[in-house]
Amino acid sequence: MSDTAPFRLYNTLTHRVEPVEPLEPGHLRFYSCGPTVYSYAHIGNFRSFLTADLILRTARAIGWKTTYVSNITDVGHLTEDDVADAGGEDKMARALRSPEGRRFANVWDLARYYTGALLDDWRALNLIEPDVRPRATEHMREQILAVERLIQTGHAYETERGVYFSVPSFEGYGKLSGNERLDRLIEGAAAESRDVVQDPDKRDPRDFALWKKDPAHLMQWYSPWGWGFPGWHLECSVMAMTYLGETLDLHAGGEDLIFPHHECEIAQSESLSGKPFARMWVHTRFLQVEGEKMSKRTGNFFTVRDLTAPQAEGGRGIDPLALRLALISGQYRKPFNFTFDNLRAAARHVQRFRDADERVAAALAADAPGDDIVGERLQRLYRQALDAMLDDLNTPAAIAAALDGVKLIGGIGARLNGASARSAKAWLDDIHRLLGIVRPESPTEAPETDPLAEQIDALLAERQEARRRRDFARADAIRADLDALGIEVMDTPEGPKWRRKPAV
Ligand code: AMP
Ligand code: ZN
Repeated sequence: MSDTAPFRLYNTLTHRVEPVEPLEPGHLRFYSCGPTVYSYAHIGNFRSFLTADLILRTARAIGWKTTYVSNITDVGHLTEDDVADAGGEDKMARALRSPEGRRFANVWDLARYYTGALLDDWRALNLIEPDVRPRATEHMREQILAVERLIQTGHAYETERGVYFSVPSFEGYGKLSGNERLDRLIEGAAAESRDVVQDPDKRDPRDFALWKKDPAHLMQWYSPWGWGFPGWHLECSVMAMTYLGETLDLHAGGEDLIFPHHECEIAQSESLSGKPFARMWVHTRFLQVEGEKMSKRTGNFFTVRDLTAPQAEGGRGIDPLALRLALISGQYRKPFNFTFDNLRAAARHVQRFRDADERVAAALAADAPGDDIVGERLQRLYRQALDAMLDDLNTPAAIAAALDGVKLIGGIGARLNGASARSAKAWLDDIHRLLGIVRPESPTEAPETDPLAEQIDALLAERQEARRRRDFARADAIRADLDALGIEVMDTPEGPKWRRKPAV
């Protein structure tokens, strides 16, 4: 699509909304910080992952090629990682000792389990799988080599306790987060000194850990500096440059990562390569729940599965697509308040997309004669949705245009002839590619244990047969019966699937 508006995003580095300009025109290469896998990812994490997903979908919608890398942090980093010494307790070790962690043999096993859970949630919310999903533990050699190079070039030094990046050796330190942060860091480190082990041999209080020496750590590797583990910031520098080259087009993450994580990534990467690390930095504002910071203590902390698991398994049985829609319903850069009210509204909207999809499938099968009476209007609405996404991912406006389209399809109802249905189908496919909210991309199977499974499967088979005979009245009646039983039917390329309707 050459005649679209430019794709613009807010660049934290320049404090401006500016056009995304890939180094290689038409090929966006970007990196988004992935989760630390010591527990289930929460809906706040997914708000940030969804920003990356929407950047990817928007770039593809204007015909760009994309190379998207998002990591798994499976090394146990420290609870005080955000201060320069990286002190405190290892998050993986703490998780292993927790009541949920006791079933794991060791931290490796724990990280493997939560990585699997993350991938399940990722698919359930229709997030596109990255081209590369590198794991920190599988890039230890590259991290050690990077530390060696930083020492050789005078950007790092060794002490008895570890290896540190020398902040004064890199002129640009502070360019992402603002220099005033340096003072805060120094103050912060001093205030924390009661709890955090300070290394008295550090040359500058701002210097941050590249390697921690610790022969007792549960995850440790052998290095030129003995047994230990890498500092948290190092993996992203190394893995981003390994898979995307020395200069990325775009780097994304949640707003908490601006400092110190991304500031330190820049210092390490640019000291290694001598080139700008990322041309654009995109940060997602933190999600709040019912107006408050999400926290386990106040009981407003939700993982994806807390909301989407069936009620019989202790979840709330919410449709993962409703959760996706709710999480993207606010623009990524604005404060976002997640509420059960907006989740309920999202569930209703997702149902309207699904109804339109079904109606269109039935009209395509019936293929009634007549002229296309929706194509032009739908195209205009798609254009509106795309323009909104190109304008710094204005998701509320894009979703509003998409809802206008389903209203249009719904309003035509039984008069949806074959030609209109073909336009509507193409439109729904386009909207789905852009926003990922029309249908599940990896449909969840109905639980085999459902007491009504046999009866439901028989009704679905009868509905398919009725559709084949073009007896749409019968097919609709069966769907209504299933609906009354609390069963939701999803038509997918592999045939119909069903599940119990969410009780939002
Ligand atoms: P973590 O697993 O803590 O490394 O976080 C993974 C990603 O989720 C990072 O990009 C974080 O910035 C982001 N994140 C964490 N909490 C929230 C939140 N409440 N809202 C939005 N993003 C978040
Ligand atoms: Zn990172």
